[in-house]
Amino acid sequence: MSHLMNTYARLPVAFTHGEGAWIYDEAGKRYLDALSGIAVSTLGHNHPRLVRSIAEQAARVLHTSNLYRIPLQEQLADRLAALSGMDEVFLCNSGCEANEAAIKLARFYGHRKGVELPTIIVMENAFHGRTMATLSATGNRKTQAGFEPLVSGFVRVPYKDIEAIRAVAEHNHSVVAVMLEMIQGEGGINVADEQFQRELRQICDERGWLMICDEVQCGVGRTGRWFGWQQAGVMPDVMTLAKGLGSGVPIGACLTAGNAAGLFGPGNHGSTFGGNPLACAAGLTTLDVIESDGLMSNAVKVGDAIRNGLREALAGVGGVVDIRGRGLMIGIELDRPCGALVGQALDAGLLINVTAERVVRLLPPLTFSESDAQALVGLLAPLVRDFLSQ
Ligand SMILES: *Cc1c(COP(=O)(O)O)cnc(C)c1O
Repeated sequence: MSHLMNTYARLPVAFTHGEGAWIYDEAGKRYLDALSGIAVSTLGHNHPRLVRSIAEQAARVLHTSNLYRIPLQEQLADRLAALSGMDEVFLCNSGCEANEAAIKLARFYGHRKGVELPTIIVMENAFHGRTMATLSATGNRKTQAGFEPLVSGFVRVPYKDIEAIRAVAEHNHSVVAVMLEMIQGEGGINVADEQFQRELRQICDERGWLMICDEVQCGVGRTGRWFGWQQAGVMPDVMTLAKGLGSGVPIGACLTAGNAAGLFGPGNHGSTFGGNPLACAAGLTTLDVIESDGLMSNAVKVGDAIRNGLREALAGVGGVVDIRGRGLMIGIELDRPCGALVGQALDAGLLINVTAERVVRLLPPLTFSESDAQALVGLLAPLVRDFLSQ
């Protein structure tokens, strides 16, 4: 019997090493990694520049704490500010921590404005994490069930429903922020259209609300832009990052701009590990490689090749509802629950995921090549076809 707490229904495989988009198990079998450990391994496995950067940093100093200046943290903050146009960066270790910082910030902002019980509008099918505040913001009853009482101060609307947001604004005068993913990941690769994004920005401006973009999954180049909101050209007031930022080394970030900047002072928030030299070295190298190797244009090209390849290979197959996404964030919606496909793909040497019960989710490394894309379509399309014909 394992002494691990039973929080995951794990697949019966363990990996020993990887190379680029391929990863090997204990028996030496190789798998095409079209999941990146859930959008984390931005640079694929064993990327020489990342390996060198973290090895060199480990040999210098791993951790000093935030009681002292950390020059690499300052560099990473400068870099993220330059890429996003935002003003300030708080560094932490994960997506839920980044969102906790954003939620605390929105409440702090509300109290400064004299709002007694600040409320944040959140979306149906959203995923923001599993800490008490972030699971309360999450729009999935399964994540919340058994953990009541939930944290109060959230009101929920359907995703992409601007009228529902306007209706809340009319009668709820405690709203201080709207929090959302520009592309819902766990919710099934649901993409917010540009018009919705612009109208939301306008409402936030009119009402003095903070627009909080959870870019934990879709950020850091995955959609073909540094951040998902750049597609519509609307800058949020608060943005959270994590998953792909360290390409496998845990790191999270909460960024602020405009009205949301300059709110926190010493003592308002913190993290012992947050932004330690090792994590910052990984973050800086990840951003450097994305830029120098053209990985965002690669994400657009290879993502389109995967979607087009799948559309072609699955044309006329009954049961395929939609093939969608942006860049290397891809969803294949089927007309029935399809969790069984994950194990079938594993047997075939392919790592994928199924989310929202009926959506096959692909999140390959941004280093995925066109021949990797062909291999992916070649492995996955027959599995989907067979699955749907059963
Ligand atoms: C994964 C995810 C989180 C939670 O990140 P953790 O690092 O697991 O805490 C939050 N928001 C989104 C959009 C995510 O995809």
